[in-house]
Amino acid sequence: MRLIWILGDQLLPSHPLIPSPSPDLYVGMIESYPRGTHVQYHQQKLTLLYSAMRHYSADLKKRKFRTLYHHLTDSPARADYTTTLAQWVEQHRIREIHLLEPNEYDSLHSLPALSKKLGVPIVTHPSTQFLVPRTEFATWASGKKHLLMETHYRRLRTERNILMTPQGQPEGGDWNLDDQNRRTFREFAKEKPQVPPLPPPVKDPIVQEVAAQVSKLFPHHPGLAADLWVPTTRAGALDWLKQFIRQRLEKFGPWEDTMVDGENILFHSVLSPLLNLGLLTPIECIHAAEKAYRDGKAPLNSVEGFIRQILGWREFIHGIYWLKMPEYREVNFLGADRPLPQWAYTGKTEMRCVSQAIHGAVDHAYNHHIQRLMVLGNYFLLGGYEPKAVLRWYTEMYLDAYDWVMVPNVLGMILFADGGFFATKPYAAGAAYQDKMGNHCASCRFDPKKKDGPDACPFHSLYWNFFGQHAKLFGKNPRIGMMVKIWEKKPSAEQKEIRQKAQRFLDAQ
Ligand SMILES: Cc1cc2nc3c(=O)[nH]c(=O)nc-3n(C[C@H](O)[C@H](O)[C@H](O)COP(=O)(O)OP(=O)(O)OC[C@H]3O[C@@H](n4cnc5c(N)ncnc54)[C@H](O)[C@@H]3O)c2cc1C
Ligand code: SF4
Repeated sequence: MRLIWILGDQLLPSHPLIPSPSPDLYVGMIESYPRGTHVQYHQQKLTLLYSAMRHYSADLKKRKFRTLYHHLTDSPARADYTTTLAQWVEQHRIREIHLLEPNEYDSLHSLPALSKKLGVPIVTHPSTQFLVPRTEFATWASGKKHLLMETHYRRLRTERNILMTPQGQPEGGDWNLDDQNRRTFREFAKEKPQVPPLPPPVKDPIVQEVAAQVSKLFPHHPGLAADLWVPTTRAGALDWLKQFIRQRLEKFGPWEDTMVDGENILFHSVLSPLLNLGLLTPIECIHAAEKAYRDGKAPLNSVEGFIRQILGWREFIHGIYWLKMPEYREVNFLGADRPLPQWAYTGKTEMRCVSQAIHGAVDHAYNHHIQRLMVLGNYFLLGGYEPKAVLRWYTEMYLDAYDWVMVPNVLGMILFADGGFFATKPYAAGAAYQDKMGNHCASCRFDPKKKDGPDACPFHSLYWNFFGQHAKLFGKNPRIGMMVKIWEKKPSAEQKEIRQKAQRFLDAQ
């Protein structure tokens, strides 16, 4: 007998290893309790994962596949992958196990030892979950000292013929339409674009059962399992995509970087939790957006901006992970060593922008990109927080968090812990950025414009302290060397005061 082992984040609509049922084939899935406790994953993330797995297996059963399934609550209690697979090998006389290459480095590299323990061969097959196979990315990256997302993105658009003219030029003449996107909060307040509501969450019996089990088995994990708000099936995911294309894509580009108090999603797609489980494929999301443009239903700046995220950033980040692991997890270029602030899991901080983002993460296991990058990421970068602690926090808090996407985004993109392998500069920003792009400052106890006194926004001293601390590293950087020069021109008494203020603030968190 053969076992096709389907991992929880590989719920592909056309799984290449199971084209049709066969009498010598089992399809198995395992909910591993120990895996669910590697870190304190958000309860909604675990509910989404296990619900999606149970739906997927139920669907295979309906299609006449012979399925094996280990639930969290099945005996032996709290079994890991090895125990369950050993049981199946014996009970069902499994002689070989096949699976798609796992998306996680450690899982892939644990397979030889697992095979030895089980006494059966484990065969991996190339994953079709991403557009760019790992080997293709490695070939493209070979010999390059720094990698640029933009170069990779243009290559893919050309080679895959996405949003291109018949003459092989980028649609509309430009590769990048950012000048029409990323509009400020002031413009948002003027135009008052209506944010359409999301469809109500589907609470089917599977989701309800899983939520009850998750809240019982993982009581100390953040969030409330019962509040899961995204779909857990392929059909639900397709509806979710359709709804985004119809209602939010049009305004995605202009308000991509805007932050609005009390609004966690705005015009973002919330497709990452579904893409990362395999419930949606990247190419169908890209084609749906491109079709909306060609049908005249969404403007080019929004469509290009959205496609850039999936074809550009997502594929690039995935490629970087496989290129740089396992050393990547250990990087700490800036020597950051501060433990997480006390309020990381409660949001109880007077900084309104930060507290709003943390509440979004705790309540919904979601923040949009700018909250992750320019609010929380910026705070963790400027505050010198330890990369492994920050990575753990991000991995715990989001519906879409998986190792391949968190490691490069947290260590490379926000913390510059890899020394700038793909980010050309650290994404450091002061209060002016928050004030321009969002309206949190309006209801904050601090004042973004004040540099001194008890109401001064903490981002002011944190920002300059960061450049003071790392002046030697960044003085020659063409994109931020200017900030170091400004720091160096400040009188030493002012520099000392800024340093002390930043230190006092961070010590109190
Ligand atoms: C510190 C940090 C941590 C992040 N952690 C994750 C994570 O764990 N999982 C995750 O999927 N994304 C992560 N991202 C990327 C991005 O923030 C999320 O994909 C996005 O916010 C998800 O919301 P959305 O689906 O509404 O995205 P949209 O804004 O609607 O974008 C569309 C899609 O583009 C893709 N995308 C955009 N940027 C990235 C990126 N930098 N890396 C990978 N995919 C991208 C996602 O699939 C997303 O669904 C992280 C970014 C940062 C800065
Ligand atoms: S004043 Fe400072 S801390 Fe408060 S919301 Fe604005 S940027 Fe954030």
